Amino acid sequence: MDTCLFCQIANQERPGKMVYEDEQAVAFEDINPKAPIHILIVPRQHLATILDATQADDRLLGHLLLVANRIAKQIGIAERGFRLVINCNSEGGQAVYHLHLHLLGGRPLSWHPA
Ligand code: AMP
Ligand code: ZN
Repeated sequence: MDTCLFCQIANQERPGKMVYEDEQAVAFEDINPKAPIHILIVPRQHLATILDATQADDRLLGHLLLVANRIAKQIGIAERGFRLVINCNSEGGQAVYHLHLHLLGGRPLSWHPA
């Protein structure tokens, strides 16, 4: 997807503060962080929403969760705790239509998703 913001960041056609890269996924800092740690974990493959994932993507989805684990440990927030969020479609608050996991942490997070 030539015009997709997160495809462009993943392909280094747009700047992003990368914290992790591998063959299947990239992770970069959110431009408008909602917590001291706010990292987006993004598959290189363009899937608009989590609803677009199929059985063929099961390994990729698992991989994204393991990347989150790895980053949380690497940046030292694993023991304290963190949150992973996927927003889907309009009432889910999705603004960028390329699947991504939000990794949030660095302070106590209240359970107030709205
Ligand atoms: P969502 O609402 O789940 O689609 O989340 C989209 C996220 O992308 C928001 O937290 C934005 O702050 C973030 N975002 C938008 N543009 C950029 C960008 N150029 N670089 C990094 N993060 C971005
Ligand atoms: Zn994309």
